[in-house]
Amino acid sequence: MTQLPVVKHILAANESLAEENRALLRRHGIFGLNIMASPGAGKTSLILATADRLPAGLRPGVIEGDLASSIDADKIAAKGIPVIQINTGGNCHLDAPMVGNALKHLPLAEIDLLFIENVGNLVCPANFALGSDMNVVVAGVPEGHDKPYKYPGMFAAAGAVVLNKADMIDVFEFDADYFRRGLEMVNPTANLFVLSCKTGTGVPEWVQWLTAQRG
Ligand code: MG
Ligand code: ZN
Repeated sequence: MTQLPVVKHILAANESLAEENRALLRRHGIFGLNIMASPGAGKTSLILATADRLPAGLRPGVIEGDLASSIDADKIAAKGIPVIQINTGGNCHLDAPMVGNALKHLPLAEIDLLFIENVGNLVCPANFALGSDMNVVVAGVPEGHDKPYKYPGMFAAAGAVVLNKADMIDVFEFDADYFRRGLEMVNPTANLFVLSCKTGTGVPEWVQWLTAQRG
């Protein structure tokens, strides 16, 4: 059985490149977020809603990871936010080399808060360090309240969990307590934010917390 050592080797190589990314971000005083979720949970919407409400002097930048297309990157660029698109060509997660390459093309001196939008996938992205300061997992109400139980690895690695589309809690009969208990089981220290990017409810509290994390 030779597969395990190969995987370990790949992860070790990724980890050392993630350290380089981390050092580069630190040199520029950039706080980096690795935003992970299943497709359609609202990663791009959260980035846009957050960027809209950042205090003056906290400048956003975005690395936009997608299997294909530049639809999300175009939305971000339309707001005047520096953005680099990574098309993974079918790869199901971002890795440190991809992010390192994207960082070469961003105006790092003009960015304070970097959002790295990972590929929509709740399984493997958490296994690949990118050099960010914090993992953020976004879950959408329509996906169901059992996500922390079904994808513990992703939720366990999160510094913050955003439950988006809170305006649909009643429509989907979403059991928020069940979701919260599941999250507490796999990650007792994660900060949970229940919000709606559509209505804006809960977004200011999230932005305030996030801003404080950067220090
Ligand atoms: Mg997106
Ligand atoms: Zn993957």
